[in-house]
Amino acid sequence: MNKIKELINKLNQNHSLSLEEYEALISGYSKENAEYAAALAVEQRKKYYKNHIYIRGLVEVSNICKNDCYYCGIRRSNKRCDHYRLTKEDILASAKEGYALGFRTFVMQGGEDKKLTDEFLVDVIKGLKSLYPDCAITLSLGERSYESYAALKSAGADRYLLRHETADREHYGKLHPKDMSFDARMECLKNLKGLGYQVGCGFMVGSPYQTVQTLAKDLKFIEEFAPDMCGIGPYLTHSDTPFRDMPSGSLELTLYLLSIIRLINPTLLLPATTALGTIHEKGREMGVLAGANVIMPNLSPISVRKKYLLYDNKACTGDEAAESIKNLKESMKSIGYEVVTARGDRTGTV
Ligand code: SAH
Repeated sequence: MNKIKELINKLNQNHSLSLEEYEALISGYSKENAEYAAALAVEQRKKYYKNHIYIRGLVEVSNICKNDCYYCGIRRSNKRCDHYRLTKEDILASAKEGYALGFRTFVMQGGEDKKLTDEFLVDVIKGLKSLYPDCAITLSLGERSYESYAALKSAGADRYLLRHETADREHYGKLHPKDMSFDARMECLKNLKGLGYQVGCGFMVGSPYQTVQTLAKDLKFIEEFAPDMCGIGPYLTHSDTPFRDMPSGSLELTLYLLSIIRLINPTLLLPATTALGTIHEKGREMGVLAGANVIMPNLSPISVRKKYLLYDNKACTGDEAAESIKNLKESMKSIGYEVVTARGDRTGTV
């Protein structure tokens, strides 16, 4: 057995490796090793989640953002971004449609839009919770104060997705302008956990200036922070950002990392992301076969979907929600998985 497979076995048993071992694992990527990791990842995932795939209805509430992240298509300085913000009625209408289709989690994601005040969000969260008490509410609205996170939690929010983006301070500085800080991001993640949210972190695979060393730090961070969810997808170039000439990340490395992350944390909620579905037509299916167990179809009104462009050529901007969920169920079935109607909380701990 080769050294890398030995490391994969070790990770599968201990759910922990040293930084140097993670580096070796990443540098040791080969098709054969990736297949080996995927088989173990699928075995682990099946122990806790059988062949069930959880779906989350993604509602992109606003593409207005005060930040200027160099990689992101809805950054403040992108003058070609066609701005919108959904109303409470829009959000409730998306949820109504989603509920009828079997969604039991709604994810409100958006830029850091100052008009998404606590008052507005508390009202929407309470509205959703009273209409759909059996549903979970996930927020993904970037960095906010401790008090704000607390108010949204009290209103009924259950989960929060805030990708850490990179666990390497210097790398963080190359992806973001000076007014954003690695410490602030980490502080937010800590606060969210402390407040009792189910928390998701994550990063882009192949983001500019990412190295084997920074990726190993991401893996170690995921191991130590022990999130409930982890969103990873390939970095995809957006032509109206400072990173327009930087190449997109790789499908293969993303899949390999999905398997590795599953082995770090077998009960993790691990989405096959939209970015993965964008880089390859069958990306989401490949993600599931590498160890993912969550898919987040778009429930935003069709009129705004083409405007929430984090990167070029984003997948699924035109399909009706009903149509896309039907296709998703069929394609999951074709690879031996079942889309279930459930809140899809995290099961068990290892
Ligand atoms: N503003 C919120 C969430 C919206 S963006 C926040 O800060 O958390 C959601 C995620 O999309 C980001 O965390 C980032 O990792 C990812 N993203 C942004 N631009 C991207 C790009 N060009 N390619 C791939 N993923 C991207």
